[in-house]
Amino acid sequence: MSDTSFDLLVIGGGITGAGIALDAATRGMKTALVEMQDFAGGTSSRSTKLIHGGLRYLKQGEFKQVAEVGRERAIVYKNGPHVTKPEWMLLPIYQGGTLGRWGTSFGLWLYDRLAGVKRSERRKMLTVAEVLEKEPLLNKTGLLCGGYYVEYRTDDARLTLEVTKKAVAKGVLAVNYTEVESFVYNKELIAGVRVKDQLSKQEYVIPANKVVNAAGPWVDLVREKDGSRKKTIQWTKGIHLVFDQRRFPLRQAIYFDTFDGRMVFAIPRDGKTYVGTTDTIFHGDPMHPRMEVEDRVYLLGAISGTFPGLYITEKDIESSWAGIRPLIAQAGKKPSEISRKDEIWHSSSGLLTVAGGKLTGYRKMAEMVVDRIPGNWGPCQTRQMPISGGEVGRADNFLHYVEETAKASSFSLQWAKQIVCQYGSNAKTIFSLARELAKNKEDLGLPIELLAILEYSIREEMAVTPADFFVRRTGALYFRRKWVEEWKQPVISYMAKRFDWSLKEKIKHLTDLNQHLQETILAVGEES
Ligand SMILES: Cc1cc2nc3c(=O)[nH]c(=O)nc-3n(C[C@H](O)[C@H](O)[C@H](O)COP(=O)(O)OP(=O)(O)OC[C@H]3O[C@@H](n4cnc5c(N)ncnc54)[C@H](O)[C@@H]3O)c2cc1C
Repeated sequence: MSDTSFDLLVIGGGITGAGIALDAATRGMKTALVEMQDFAGGTSSRSTKLIHGGLRYLKQGEFKQVAEVGRERAIVYKNGPHVTKPEWMLLPIYQGGTLGRWGTSFGLWLYDRLAGVKRSERRKMLTVAEVLEKEPLLNKTGLLCGGYYVEYRTDDARLTLEVTKKAVAKGVLAVNYTEVESFVYNKELIAGVRVKDQLSKQEYVIPANKVVNAAGPWVDLVREKDGSRKKTIQWTKGIHLVFDQRRFPLRQAIYFDTFDGRMVFAIPRDGKTYVGTTDTIFHGDPMHPRMEVEDRVYLLGAISGTFPGLYITEKDIESSWAGIRPLIAQAGKKPSEISRKDEIWHSSSGLLTVAGGKLTGYRKMAEMVVDRIPGNWGPCQTRQMPISGGEVGRADNFLHYVEETAKASSFSLQWAKQIVCQYGSNAKTIFSLARELAKNKEDLGLPIELLAILEYSIREEMAVTPADFFVRRTGALYFRRKWVEEWKQPVISYMAKRFDWSLKEKIKHLTDLNQHLQETILAVGEES
């Protein structure tokens, strides 16, 4: 990278930076992307993992926003059905709750129209009996009816990786674990960045005509390095708790009212149920946000109000994660009232900063940023462009694609389907990797199925630590803890050999992963 002069350099490998890099490259810009942690290591692996319609914007009367987010939601699904799945959401309506029967019915109707929701996914209103049939665990007291509408479930980190990989396929040079430490100037205008490789500790200068700051919660800190900081970002923290389905056998995704008038999601996924989120002002280290005792008490209280027969306690928590929202500060507003809108700022040095927004609107946000880059570049190309793994034909035919590709793979149907579901058209690369690795007679201590995805993560997705693999490449740390416990030693041994780690490095990686595992079940201050 330091040998090249770029038209554009993007700081931040979350969904915002990945989207910008892809948009810019496809318009003809020579583009670089640098990320100081792992790709999606910031907020983009710590969200509620939904490609939302903008129901909350409707409540705030922001109709234009609802229409735009609705359109974008459909585009994200169409371009990547392997990372975005429709999920019917149930909105139970209670006597005295913040949502009324007629208001909800009208709101969802209006939402369907504004967001251009397709006929088969338009809202239905359900009777009490229908609501309880869908989800018998719900509190029956005061239940009036329910709204039933479609959201889309995603894997935020994998969505970010697929967009990044597409950007790389279009010519972007992207690297993780590389921090922008300062800017390089030519006559007071930014002419590049000075970066430090976080693994080798080597420093480099990367020349670039234009630099975009897409550093999420860190955008103010990056602006500070350019001397152009104004207080603009308000950090708020949101956490999620994960339970096993045997303890919290939720059948149906629910969006429910809490005792303080906020709304919380409970979502079934891969044999687990996850619940979130909270929304509180945060002043800590954005690199390591964690569950605090108050967060846990709040969510357990919300769960017991809506699912009273379960008697869920903190002992039932299998995992958790916390994320920081980079919101545009609005004086006098409560955290949950601050708008989720995005904004772009120019600095006199030429630095372009983008902040706020959602996963859902990433493509449009990228288009708006790249539109502002001076030069004779073409129009945005990403609207009809499948992301990496998205070359699967029509999105609504995805299940058929999964069946056919799995059958043709020569591997066990169950495993092959799982791989196609998760990796889409890239599954074929994993299958051929598995065949290649199977030829090797050396005992690597790992089943071929695991080895194939691990090797794919290393070769195609730049995984360099065990946490990269277990947290962001597979989501297993949150949803398959037993699997992580079972395989962490052999995976670390394989990576140690693959990357030539010293014993000290190997121990450090194991300690880091164990700490990660511990921190997902213990609140801050509870470590022994
Ligand atoms: C609890 C919670 C729930 C959410 N739920 C949803 C949801 O369900 N649906 C939805 O659409 N949105 C949701 N969001 C919002 C969404 O997750 C964020 O808007 C989005 O992930 C922000 O992406 P980003 O790329 O801007 O920031 P990030 O993902 O944080 O990326 C910024 C990156 O910049 C890197 N960086 C910072 N400084 C430097 C530097 N000096 N050099 C190099 N790299 C640097 C960081 O390491 C980081 O990885 C949620 C957010 C939270 C917190």
